[in-house]
Amino acid sequence: MVKAVVGANWGDEGKGKITDMLAEDADIIVRFQGGANAGHTIKNKYGKFALHTLPSGVFYDHTTSVIGNGVALNIPILFKEVQEIVEKGVPKPKILVSERAQMVMPYHILFDQYEEERLAGKSFGSTKSGIAPFYSDKYAKIGFQVCELFDESALKEKLARVAETKNVLLEHLYHKPLLNVDELYETLMEYKKMVEPYVCDVSAFLDKALKEGKTVLLEGQLGTLKDTDHGIYPMVTSSNTLAAYGAVGAGIPPYEIKEIITVCKAYSSAVGAGAFVSEIFGEEADELRRRGGDGGEYGATTGRPRRMGWFDCVASKYGCRLQGTTDVAFTVLDVLGYLDEIPVCVGYEIDGEVTTDFPVTYKLEKAKPVLKTMPGWKTDISGIRNYEELPENCRKYVEFIEEQIGYPITMVSNGPGREDIIYRKSPLK
Ligand code: GDP
Repeated sequence: MVKAVVGANWGDEGKGKITDMLAEDADIIVRFQGGANAGHTIKNKYGKFALHTLPSGVFYDHTTSVIGNGVALNIPILFKEVQEIVEKGVPKPKILVSERAQMVMPYHILFDQYEEERLAGKSFGSTKSGIAPFYSDKYAKIGFQVCELFDESALKEKLARVAETKNVLLEHLYHKPLLNVDELYETLMEYKKMVEPYVCDVSAFLDKALKEGKTVLLEGQLGTLKDTDHGIYPMVTSSNTLAAYGAVGAGIPPYEIKEIITVCKAYSSAVGAGAFVSEIFGEEADELRRRGGDGGEYGATTGRPRRMGWFDCVASKYGCRLQGTTDVAFTVLDVLGYLDEIPVCVGYEIDGEVTTDFPVTYKLEKAKPVLKTMPGWKTDISGIRNYEELPENCRKYVEFIEEQIGYPITMVSNGPGREDIIYRKSPLK
C-alpha cells in the first residue's frame, strides 16, 4: 500500500518529521518531485539533519530510499548528503535512483543565478538551485535523464547541441562565460561514476514491491500553495507538489495511493515572494519566528528568515482539498503555548466581500485577512501523549481549525522528535 506525506501550505510544515516517524512502519520511501531547493529538518537519535534530496526515511536500516523520475536530481548533492549522514553514524542507506530521473546540470544552477540577477527586484526569490531552468529544459525536451549517461556518444552529441542554444543566451542576454562541451562531458562522467551502482527501473521495482505487500511512503516537497498549477502562480515552484503527482513522479498507479497525510503547521510561514494573506510583521512576527519550529523559522537550505503569519483556514482548506487529504497531521502546536490569544485567519475579504474559497493570484493579492481570536493555553504541552490531556483551549484550537478546514486532524505533533506525536480520533473520520 502507498501513503503520501505532503504539505497543505507553503512548505516547511514539518513533513520531514512526519515522514521520519511514519517510515518506521514503511519499507520504501520515495521522493517524487522537486530537488535540493528545499530542505526537511529531522531530529532523531543520530542528531539533527537538514536533508535536501534524500528521503526523510533514510535513518532506518530496514528502509530503501528512492529517487523517483519526477525529481530534479543533483547528483553531487545527493552523494554529499549520503556522506554526511554516514559520518554522523547513520547506517549506510540503501538508495535507488530512477534511470528516468533527470539531472540538474551545472548550467541550470548558473542560469538560475543569472536570471535572478537580471530580474533584480522583480525576482521570484529562487533558492538558486537550478530548479526552474531544470524543469524548463525537461519540458522543452532538452533535459538529460540519468540513463543517458550510459549512451556516451549520443550524450556528447546532445551536449554540443544543447550548449549551442544555451551559449546564445549566455553571450547575448547574460554576458557571461560560455559553456565548454568537453568540460561538461567530463563532469557528467564523474556523475556517472557516483550514480552507477544505484540506477534502476524504479517503477518496475515499486510494482514488484507493491505486489509483495510492501508499504511505500511518498514524500512531497513544499506544499499545495507552491504547486505549479494550483499554487500562487507564478510565485510557485516548478514542479507539482500534489500527492496526485506522486503517481507520475514515482511511476505507480494512482489508485495505489490509499492514504494522503497532509501536514499543516499550527501557524503559517513562507519563504520567497508572493501573496501571504495572514502574514504578520514587526515584533509579533519576530517572536513567532524565534520560537517557531525547532530553533527558529529559518530556511533549511538558505538560512533565510521565513515570513510568518497566523494559521490560514482558507489556504489550508484549499491546500488539503487539492491534496485529496485522508488525514491531517497538525504540527508545531507546542510553539503557540506562549500566546495569550491566538488569531486565526477564517476568511478573505476581497473587494468588500468575504470568502472562504482560495482565489486565483490577482484576487489573492487584494485579499485582507478576516481574523478570529482564540484564547491561548499558556502552558508547555510538549511531552503530552494523550489528546485528552491537552489543555482545553488547546483542544478547542485544534477542533476549531478542523471544523474550518473540513478534514480530519488525526495526528497532533507537539515537538520535533519522532515520539512527539498525539494520535486522535476525529469526528470527521
Ligand atoms: P518540512 O520541509 O515540511 O519537512 O519542514 P521543516 O524541515 O521546515 O520542519 C519544520 C521544523 O519544525 C523542523 O525544524 C522540525 O524539526 C520542526 N518540527 C516539526 N514538527 C515539530 C513540532 O511538532 N514541534 C516543534 N517544536 N518543532 C517541530
